[in-house]
Amino acid sequence: MTQNSYWILRAEHRLLTISGSGADAIFPSALPADFKHPANALAVGQLNGIPCYAADVEHLPEIPGSEPTPLRTIFQLAGAEVFALAGRATQLLDWQNNHRFCGKCGTPTTIKSSELAMHCPACGLLAYPRISPAVMVLVRDGDKLLLARSPHFKPGVYSALAGFVEPGETLEECAAREVREEVGIEITKLRYFHSQPWPFPNSLMVAFFADYAGGTITPDPNEIEAADWFPLDALPILPEPISISRRLIDAACQQADKS
Ligand SMILES: [Zn+2]
Repeated sequence: MTQNSYWILRAEHRLLTISGSGADAIFPSALPADFKHPANALAVGQLNGIPCYAADVEHLPEIPGSEPTPLRTIFQLAGAEVFALAGRATQLLDWQNNHRFCGKCGTPTTIKSSELAMHCPACGLLAYPRISPAVMVLVRDGDKLLLARSPHFKPGVYSALAGFVEPGETLEECAAREVREEVGIEITKLRYFHSQPWPFPNSLMVAFFADYAGGTITPDPNEIEAADWFPLDALPILPEPISISRRLIDAACQQADKS
């Protein structure tokens, strides 16, 4: 590394950003020596065609105009592409931190240079970055959408239903099970929309539309605070654009406009 690279430096769940510079240079560009050669630096991709590294540091360096920034805020500061790279960086740093020892025999691991894997030199176990798939379902019945809120949402916000895929389960089975468990509704005609990496901490959200097929809304009190059918022209407060849920709901409204 003799040329400048971008650096995503993290301390106490905050990333160092340079304020006011926009998507071009939200992260500092520097040589490793400028940051005292951070231990366990990871190559995480490219930004504007320039290599980007990530590292955990004890204290963020003091650079004029820089500030510690939560990952979520990167989306508002620099857009979806930079947010995705920052999300990838934090997931890889977490993975490296959480697999310093072999889960099978306890030997300290080393990172493989040829692929993203932590390797145990004693027993050969490989630990790859873990991604937890989750399914999101927006259920529609005519001109109404089924939206719900979980207790950790901001006040008044409703969204589509979502839940994690279980071992041995297909995405389709997960979608039907989650909707049944969370609100007691049966669905049909599941249709794929889009997916989104969701780095809080390591999900891949796979979003679907579905049609109502039966049942009465019966919220699971452990997961759902409130759920209801909302007319397309009278929707409640929706999630912020950072999440695929908002794009999913917006797309349903646009489809209704056309039909
Ligand atoms: Zn081992």
